[in-house]
Amino acid sequence: MMAALAEKRAAFPEESADRKLAEELLDALRAKTSDGVGITRESYGAGESAALDLVEAKARALGLQTERDAGANLVVTLEGSEPELPFLACGSHLDSVPQGGNFDGAAGVIAGLAILAGFKAEGFRPRRTLKLYALRGEESARFGKAYLGSSALFGGLTPADLAVKDAQSGRTLAECMRDVGVAVDRVERAEPLLDAARVAAWVELHIEQGPVLVARNLPVGIVTGIRGNIRHRAVECSGEAGHSGAVPRWLRRDAVFATAELITHLDRHWRTLLERGRDVVVTSGVFGTDPQEHAIARIPGTVRFSFEVRSQNTETLEAFYDLFLSECALIGEERGVSFKLDRRLESTSATMDAGWVTRLKAAARGLGLPDEEIPSGAGHDAAVFANAGIPSAMIFVRNEHGSHNPKEAMEIDDFLAGIAVMRAAIRDAAQ
Ligand SMILES: [Zn+2]
Repeated sequence: MMAALAEKRAAFPEESADRKLAEELLDALRAKTSDGVGITRESYGAGESAALDLVEAKARALGLQTERDAGANLVVTLEGSEPELPFLACGSHLDSVPQGGNFDGAAGVIAGLAILAGFKAEGFRPRRTLKLYALRGEESARFGKAYLGSSALFGGLTPADLAVKDAQSGRTLAECMRDVGVAVDRVERAEPLLDAARVAAWVELHIEQGPVLVARNLPVGIVTGIRGNIRHRAVECSGEAGHSGAVPRWLRRDAVFATAELITHLDRHWRTLLERGRDVVVTSGVFGTDPQEHAIARIPGTVRFSFEVRSQNTETLEAFYDLFLSECALIGEERGVSFKLDRRLESTSATMDAGWVTRLKAAARGLGLPDEEIPSGAGHDAAVFANAGIPSAMIFVRNEHGSHNPKEAMEIDDFLAGIAVMRAAIRDAAQ
C-alpha cells in the first residue's frame, strides 16, 4: 500500500517544491518554538507571534502579499483576476498547547502557503482572490475556550470570554489580544472583523487527531462534519452510605451500582444509534467515589462523574441527551438514588459543505488517492466558519499518536498528498 502510494506520488507535479517548503518551515517552526520537550506557541503569546512572523517572512520571500487583519491574524493574499468576487480562504491556526506537537495547526498553514506560492510560481492567476489565514488562538489551553481567533473574526466573543485570565501571567484575554495588536474595542462590541459574505469558502487541512486513518491505512481523509458536544463537568449520584456486610441488597441505595447501570444503559443506546447509522461518541472521562470517605467495607453513598456526548448532528446530540436525562430519572427511581447535574456546556456541531466534499473527493481520486470520508471528532476553526454560513471543508492527513503532545507523527509523503488534494480542489473552485 505504502509503496503503491509512493509511486503515484512521484507524479504530483509540485511535489519537490512543496516538500522543500514544508520541511524548511516545519524545521524553522520547531527550532523557533521548541520548549525542550515539544513546542509551545501559546495563544496571543510570544511563541504564536514568532510563528506568524516566520510564516510571514517566508510568504514575502516567495513574492506573496501579506498583512495582519484586525484580529492580528496573518493574512497572505494571491489576488485573483476578478477581485470583486468573494474570495476563497484557506489556512489553520499557529498556536499550540504547552509542550504540543509541531504539526497541529501549522500543517494547514503551510499547506495553504505551498498552494498560493505554487500558483504564483507557475503564473496561474485564479479568478477569485485566494487568502491564506494563519489564525491565532485556536487552542483552549490558555484561556479555557477554543476558536478564539476565528470567533473574534465573526463577533463571537463575549465580555466573559475576554475577561478570562491566563493562569500563569494573570493577564486577561483582552489584554493579551491588545498586546499583539488585536482591535480589542471592536471585539468587545462583538463587531465582525470579517464580512462572512465576502468569503466564498473556507478550506482547512489538519492532521487527524484520532487513530482512524492509521488503522485503515489511508494517507488522507475528507471530513464530512465536525462533532459538537454536550457536557457536564460533574454529575453527582447520591444514594446512601452503609455497612457493606449489614445492609441487604433490597435496602441498598448504592451510588456506584446505580451509576454503573446508567453507563451500561447509555452504552446500549449508543450501540443502537450506531446500528441506525447515527454519528455519536459517549465518554465518562472523570469518574469516582470520594477518597475522603470511601472504603472497601462501605456502600458508596456518592459518585461523581463527567458526561460527554459528541455528534456531527445536533438532533442526535439532543436525542442522546434526552435519553441520558430519562435514564437518570428511571434508574434514580428504581434504585433510590438521585442524579444532580451541574451546568450544561455545549459546543455546536458543523456540517462540511456537500459540494466541497464532492470536489475534494474528486480531487483525491484524480490523484490516484483514496477518497474516504471521515468525521472530525475534535473541534476546528472550520466549525466557526461553517456556522458563520461560509461553505467549509477539511482534509485530514494521517498522523500517529494523536495530537496535543510532542509525539504526533505525520509522514511528509502523506502531507504532500493532502496538499495535492487541496491544491486540485482550490484550482477547480478558483478558476
Ligand atoms: Zn489544531
